[in-house]
Amino acid sequence: DDGTTPRFRAALAAVPAYKAGRPPAVAEGLPAYKLSSNENPYPPLPSVHKVVADAVGEINRYPDPANAELAQTLAERFGVPASHIVVGNGSVTVAQQLVNATAGEGDEVVFAWRSFEAYPMLVLLAGATPVMVPLLADESHDLDAMAAAITERTRLVFVCNPNNPTGTVIHRAELERFLDRVPRHVVVVLDEAYREFIRDERVPDGVELYRERPNVVVLRTFSKAYGLAGLRVGFAIAHEAAADELRKTGMPFAVNRLAQVAAIASVGAEAELLERVEALVQERTRVLETLVGQGWTVFDSQANFVWLRLGERTGEFAAMCEAAGVTVRPFEGEGCRITIGETEANTIFLEQAARFMEK
Ligand code: PMP
Repeated sequence: DDGTTPRFRAALAAVPAYKAGRPPAVAEGLPAYKLSSNENPYPPLPSVHKVVADAVGEINRYPDPANAELAQTLAERFGVPASHIVVGNGSVTVAQQLVNATAGEGDEVVFAWRSFEAYPMLVLLAGATPVMVPLLADESHDLDAMAAAITERTRLVFVCNPNNPTGTVIHRAELERFLDRVPRHVVVVLDEAYREFIRDERVPDGVELYRERPNVVVLRTFSKAYGLAGLRVGFAIAHEAAADELRKTGMPFAVNRLAQVAAIASVGAEAELLERVEALVQERTRVLETLVGQGWTVFDSQANFVWLRLGERTGEFAAMCEAAGVTVRPFEGEGCRITIGETEANTIFLEQAARFMEK
């Protein structure tokens, strides 16, 4: 360093780049479906479209920095005080607020791996240390190992239920046993980005677990079941002390006007939106059953995606799907995550999966 180049924080050297799901390659005569980012394939409901279009006329004004109407709407929806709701610019930003509110230099954040790709990035950005606990052979959380990984330095634990990218879930008894083992001064985030896609009744609703535990924070998003990924809005449900700290780590006006009105309208149109979710869940069942019939080893997924463990052949499979007109999300050397999307897209993926099996 001769003093002529800008200096940046040394911690940034270890921060991996986020690998967003690629859009489909558009080629003549080829379908183009994106099954790489766990998005909702349905377009906005007309009622949601309308409130967003109406709000466009007011974008010369800042949005409500307190997200008061949305927080009140969510409070009523979940039966919690509005002071327990913290809204952010996508749940990934709320996750970052959680890390920044709890962990800094020398602190540890525990989570399973592989899990949501942003966790290690957020922890490293905060200057803290990620403690990544390998998943079990059935792709589920190893909660015993995670409990054992908690030290004096642990400030935060992420539990992703269902887990991205494997789709696996944690049942009530296991999760309660784990929460009972975590010291009360350690914050546990139950990341439930895919909550609405769960049909396994043994999976607890994080909101019920949070009610009796001041160190438990529930993270939810409007990006998946509610189909608002492009507007960026998510939220945490946390007890007042935690919620207050969390708000301090958020930026003013982080949640834009269009996102706020769309989210409020979406809660109002929930019944209609959940019918779409049900159709996606039925597609998930079709996809999983077809894969099993083709001879694949797949574990049940309770999210809007399925996971294929492909090891060295991950890139090959992703390329095959892309050549057929659907992009999936490869995790090099590990496997592919395939979002449940349009029926035709799912069928193209299944055709490629069958071809791959016969190779
Ligand atoms: N948590 C999990 C487990 C996710 O998979 C995602 C999206 N990939 C997020 C959080 C973030 O979603 P968003 O920022 O769109 O709310």
